[in-house]
Amino acid sequence: MSRILIVEDEPDMRRGLKDNLEFEGYETVTTANGTEGLRMALKEDFDLIILDLMLPGMDGMDVCRKLKESGSTTPMIMLTARGAEEDKISGLEAGADDYITKPFSLKEMLARVKVILRRATQDRPSIHDYTFGSIVLSFDKYKATRNGQPLDLSPREFEMMRLFVENEGKVVNREQFLEQVWGYTTVPSTRTVDNHIAKLRQKIERDAENPQHIITVHRMGYKFIP
Ligand code: CA
Repeated sequence: MSRILIVEDEPDMRRGLKDNLEFEGYETVTTANGTEGLRMALKEDFDLIILDLMLPGMDGMDVCRKLKESGSTTPMIMLTARGAEEDKISGLEAGADDYITKPFSLKEMLARVKVILRRATQDRPSIHDYTFGSIVLSFDKYKATRNGQPLDLSPREFEMMRLFVENEGKVVNREQFLEQVWGYTTVPSTRTVDNHIAKLRQKIERDAENPQHIITVHRMGYKFIP
């Protein structure tokens, strides 16, 4: 059973996360204070930490940084406020594995938790930097460039690219995307994957109408050709 530490000072949010995660079978420990959260995270073993940004005691960014400095490899999801773009970027730079913007749906949160826990437990060789054509993807930092210029990919688009890169030249079907990237298979339609592929092509391909890298394989899925 995975143990999750929730550091969140808003009582309703904390209780909502705790109840829903426990309902899904996770064991949770909660605290409302950043300093206390850091102390617990250093003392006990957790499989995941959900960390709010604005906290009494010590803010989430500092908790995250101090944990990373201590050598902690426990994955962290940062909770950020809507529209606070810099917070997301600083959070990822401080070492958070993912962020989720408030207000969020619990379904979305549970999906992100599943993806992160599976990624952490799967012993797959981790890809750090990957280059194809003029594009460089840094999976560690969620940073991408084309010809040295920043290329704006969302964390989800990075996960899609990770799946592609891991299956280079092989067909990846829509169900694999839903399971590995979204973390659940009950989204309304596999069309979600197609829509995200279309957006990804706009960013990756020179000509999204004539893709050279993300190839549609009729009735099967998609294939990545570097
Ligand atoms: Ca807060």
